[in-house]
Formats: sequence, structure tokens, C-alpha cells
Amino acid sequence: MELYDSLIRQAMTLGGAGAVKRYAYDPARAWPDTGEFELVMQREAACELGGGGRNAANFTCVTTTPGLVDADEVLVYGPDIKDLKGDADYARITLLEVDGAALEQGDDTEQCFRAVQELDFVKYRVFPRGYMIRTSSESSREQVRVSRSAVKDGVSFERVGANFIRHYHLDPKVKHVRMIFLTAPGADYAQAARCAKAVKDITMSLTKIMEGMPTDCGSCQLKPICDEVEGLKELHFGKKGKRQ
Ligand code: SF4
Repeated sequence: MELYDSLIRQAMTLGGAGAVKRYAYDPARAWPDTGEFELVMQREAACELGGGGRNAANFTCVTTTPGLVDADEVLVYGPDIKDLKGDADYARITLLEVDGAALEQGDDTEQCFRAVQELDFVKYRVFPRGYMIRTSSESSREQVRVSRSAVKDGVSFERVGANFIRHYHLDPKVKHVRMIFLTAPGADYAQAARCAKAVKDITMSLTKIMEGMPTDCGSCQLKPICDEVEGLKELHFGKKGKRQ
């Protein structure tokens, strides 16, 4: 499945020209998870990521293309949590390589869609301690309030990212996970927001295709999206050339 491949390539450029910190995934480093939503009050906050009118993008891309997401790792562009002074721009991007055979079993488009949806929902089951995540699926924004006690205990993007990766690997289809955190002033947050919108457009198109779209591209309202996104038309018409 190549629907998100061009977005994955773009995601790798969003951090800008500054240095990137790269951490290989170590499950033992995963930041503790509370297993349920934990409220961090403003008076307990060390910093807000994406709060106070700052940039705050979030999106997840899935691929079966070998080599695009070839390792479990966390990439950090910009200051880590302990080095942030007050509120900061923020984006968190998740790139997943999944087993193509498992995802596209029997050319079943619906199964493929459900699998992608399930993977997107994993983020709602991750509750890093002292790292309160508020996600808006409507606007594709994600804000985080980090508690002072979490900072004191050593919370970092590497460790929060490892917590996310651990959750994704509970799904046996997942081969590799790359978590990207952006806080760098020079990162391209506007493009990150556009990528998040493009991911939403793909999901919306898949939903409509599942509901049963007409098969005349010439009069279809989704044509601008299908023209942009490699693989969407093939998905609609099936890999066996069912196009009418
Ligand atoms: S493939 Fe054609 S008919 Fe199907 S959703 Fe895209 S534009 Fe519409």
C-alpha cells in the first residue's frame, strides 16, 4: 500500500536543516504508561507543547513499501522537553511499515482500510505519565501538557516515543515504527499541518469508497484527491482491474 508514501517522504524533510537526534528503539527505555487519561493541571505544568496558539500538528502514515520506514527509532528535531522554556511549537509524526501480505490479504480493500484505521487509533491508547495529550481529530492538532514531576523524573521524547513504539508493536502486522518529534523553531509546521490535512483527506476518501462511490472519475468529487494520491484509484477499482 503506497497511499501515504509521498507524505512519508515529506515527513522526513519537515525538521529543517538543524541537527537531528536519532534514538534506536529500546523497550527498556519506554516512559511509564498510566493506562488511562491523567489530568495535568496548569499549575503543575512545566511546559505546553503546541499550546497557547502555537503550531501543533499530528499525523500517522502507513506503508508497505520496503525501506521507507526501515527501523524502530525516535527522531527529535529541536530542543528536548527538559530544555524547553515555556510553550513551544510542536508536531508528532508516526510512520509505520506494516506487513504487506497481512494488510492486503485477499485484495480486500475494506480489510486494508480497517487495519489502517486501527493503527491510527493506537494513539488514543497511549498515556505517558505526566504527559497529557489532547488530540483533535477534526483539526489534526495535538497539544501536550508536561508535568514538572515528569521533567524531574527524566521524561524525554526518546522515552515517550519508545512508549508509543511499544504500543504499535502489540499489533503483529507492524514491522517498524519511526516516531518524529518537532520542536525546532525552524521546522516546517505549516507543511506538517498540510500533510496532516492530506492524511485526513485520504481517510475521508477511503471512507467514502467503502460506503460505495460511483466509479466514474470524471464526475466524482474526490477526483482532485485521487489525482494527487498515488494508489487511491487502484484501491477503488481493485488490483485486478475492475475499472469500469
Ligand atoms: S477512483 Fe475515481 S471514482 Fe473512485 S473515488 Fe477516486 S475519483 Fe472517485
